[in-house]
Amino acid sequence: MRFLITGGAGFIGSHLADHLLTAGHEVFVIDDLSTGSMDNIRHLKGKSRFHYEIDTIANGPLLHELVDSVDSVFHLAAAVGVKLVVESPVRTIETNIHGTGWVLAAAAMKKKPVLVASSSEVYGKATRVPFREDDDMVLGPSSKARWSYACSKAIDEFLGLAYFRERGLPTVVVRLFNTVGPRQTGRYGMVVPTFVRQALAHEPVTVYGDGQQTRCFTHVRDVVQALYDIILKTEAYGQVFNVGGVQEISIEDLARRVISATSSRSELSYVPYDRAYAEGFEDMQRRLPSIDKVQALLGWSPQMSLDKIIEDVVAFEQATSE
Ligand code: UDP
Repeated sequence: MRFLITGGAGFIGSHLADHLLTAGHEVFVIDDLSTGSMDNIRHLKGKSRFHYEIDTIANGPLLHELVDSVDSVFHLAAAVGVKLVVESPVRTIETNIHGTGWVLAAAAMKKKPVLVASSSEVYGKATRVPFREDDDMVLGPSSKARWSYACSKAIDEFLGLAYFRERGLPTVVVRLFNTVGPRQTGRYGMVVPTFVRQALAHEPVTVYGDGQQTRCFTHVRDVVQALYDIILKTEAYGQVFNVGGVQEISIEDLARRVISATSSRSELSYVPYDRAYAEGFEDMQRRLPSIDKVQALLGWSPQMSLDKIIEDVVAFEQATSE
């Protein structure tokens, strides 16, 4: 089969490209390198079944040509990271909303299936865990920039589902929960690469807030397996699926795990949210997915433990800092 990955030079997109190529498919990537990187796909250059365009999905003629030449589309191009969202809300909102609109419109012309990558951010401040796909979204006020990300992703979801209902376009929405692994950069605030880099340098490990907030981290290789399996399932179209790990850990414990895995002399440094992000920043206390729905569809569950995730990120950071 032929697949298009928007954002294919990004962290998740490049792992998805690896996965599809290994499965014997032909892969087309479009990425404007705003947060993606050539480093992520350099090893694929020159492979006969791999094609890439460094360009924006705002380039309508190119986007249409790419969509026309494939069987299905993974739409992963988006603004990433809470830090970027807080610092550049205009870019976040415009990239997420316009980008998804363009991709769906192009796909609708030839009825090409589209997987829309969404985020666990859409659950917002909901406190009833685990989060189920049909739970209410509980978002904060528009005066707090963080919520613009969740809101823009929610619009992407509405749009994807509207194209399914109104235009018969096969679309499926996947909500990703803290995907981590090699190639993820700490530049946009992501906690695992940040902690690993700090620990390897024996610098203070910056725990934001009191460190009692929890997350479930998922290895990117587990995630791309799920994305691939989902897009091939016609029963999945018109629906939303959580994809994430279920091993919950506090950020403070994560910091200690990383320090121990790297035999680091680092100590924990507690940084108030106002200093880490912006005045009045709101974090989520717990973020735990229900994966019953994706399990029922595919029998999928994450195979890689948090220790394996940390080990892979440490190996990657060591290899790239040499
Ligand atoms: N975090 C932290 N120290 C850092 C970076 C992040 O304590 O150097 C915290 C952050 O406040 C959040 C969690 O780690 O509670 C996960 O942050 P990340 O940006 O990776 O993902 P999020 O779940 O916020 O989308």
